[in-house]
Amino acid sequence: MTRSFDALVLGAGAAGLMCAIEAAKRGRRIAVLERADQIGKKILISGGGRCNFTNLHCRPENFLSANPHFSKSALARYTPADFIALVEKHRIPYHEKTKGQLFCDRFARDIVRLLEEECRAAGVQIFPAAAVREVRKDTEFVVAVGDQEFRARALVVATGGLSIPKIGATSFGYDLARQFGLKIRECRPALVPLTFNAEDREHYVDLTGVSADIIASCDSRQFHDKMLITHRGLSGPAILQISSYWQQSAPITIDLAPAHDLTAFLRHSTAGRELNAAKTAFRHALPQRLADRWLDLHPPKDWTNHSLAQLERHAHHWQIIPSGTEGYEKAEVTAGGVDTDELSAKTMESRKVPGLYFIGEVVDVTGQLGGFNFQWAWASGFCAGQAI
Ligand SMILES: Cc1cc2nc3c(=O)[nH]c(=O)nc-3n(C[C@H](O)[C@H](O)[C@H](O)COP(=O)(O)OP(=O)(O)OC[C@H]3O[C@@H](n4cnc5c(N)ncnc54)[C@H](O)[C@@H]3O)c2cc1C
Repeated sequence: MTRSFDALVLGAGAAGLMCAIEAAKRGRRIAVLERADQIGKKILISGGGRCNFTNLHCRPENFLSANPHFSKSALARYTPADFIALVEKHRIPYHEKTKGQLFCDRFARDIVRLLEEECRAAGVQIFPAAAVREVRKDTEFVVAVGDQEFRARALVVATGGLSIPKIGATSFGYDLARQFGLKIRECRPALVPLTFNAEDREHYVDLTGVSADIIASCDSRQFHDKMLITHRGLSGPAILQISSYWQQSAPITIDLAPAHDLTAFLRHSTAGRELNAAKTAFRHALPQRLADRWLDLHPPKDWTNHSLAQLERHAHHWQIIPSGTEGYEKAEVTAGGVDTDELSAKTMESRKVPGLYFIGEVVDVTGQLGGFNFQWAWASGFCAGQAI
């Protein structure tokens, strides 16, 4: 059986559904083909189940891409205020958690319901459990699903990245891009915990669960936020953020006590300069177990002012070399993807293959932590939805 539409959208995630809604509102006949038996699965697990659906301070600087200018047009055309208006239209209660991050008060399912209702109102047809067998192009795009064929003059690929394979992430979107001759920027896990090298693991693994307010930096980027020690390495928002900029084998610099003068008390007295006094001083700024362990492992050479100054510097510039990341199983997103040189920044259409669009995480645009990835999904989906 053959079904004809104006456009086919592959993937019922954030980007695909937004695109479908916008196109259907313009009178287009849209089919969304979703491999899973349920739509918006990643939205449901996002933001710890509360979906950090956008960020009030969203700017192009919050995104990584080989072309840092690419996201500008889409982000300007569909802003956080546009999505907030939709959330308010559906009377979904939400709050700002921190740093402009907007979360649902109740649960992420509210956002999936919003998208479902908008799809229904606009007349989008959604086909869950659609296992795509083949995609080809003759006069139109043809997508084979089981013994059915879907045909349309436009095809939108919104199949997401490689992170969290256990909820169905695959390389489908990248494979399809290659099939049509589009270049891919190398993919890697991003917003991902980092793993200790063998030595650090031995030194810190029993501090699992300890968290500290730090600045993590590498590659001239820095993030001031929480760091969490895990049984495998380091996590927490500051580490997830810096992981997106980290290259294998490079060091990460950690300021263990931002804006604290840890050794001031010791420097200003000549009496009582010894390890226990240093631990007491460090405990004012750091969790006790981390303060004690770090000083046991990095004691000053002696207690001169010079050595105390060195200790101070070291605590603000502690370098570790992670052995790697926890991979796509734990990564929130995939960095890299369909090369933005291949796409129109205004419509997300392929420059080489007219009628073929890529949106959302499959594109080489990756947001920092804090609702930016959904904002990119909404914005890129919106732009394609205006064009198809
Ligand atoms: C644990 C976790 C928490 C996160 N929390 C947040 C957060 O709070 N805020 C934020 O901004 N970002 C968050 N993210 C990132 C965010 O979820 C993604 O960047 C965003 O969902 C990408 O949207 P997308 O539509 O491009 O892809 P997805 O949401 O991944 O959707 C892709 C869809 O395509 C489907 N699909 C795959 N292959 C096929 C195929 N062959 N045929 C048909 N369909 C297919 C998939 O089943 C899926 O439904 C989180 C990610 C994770 C893993």
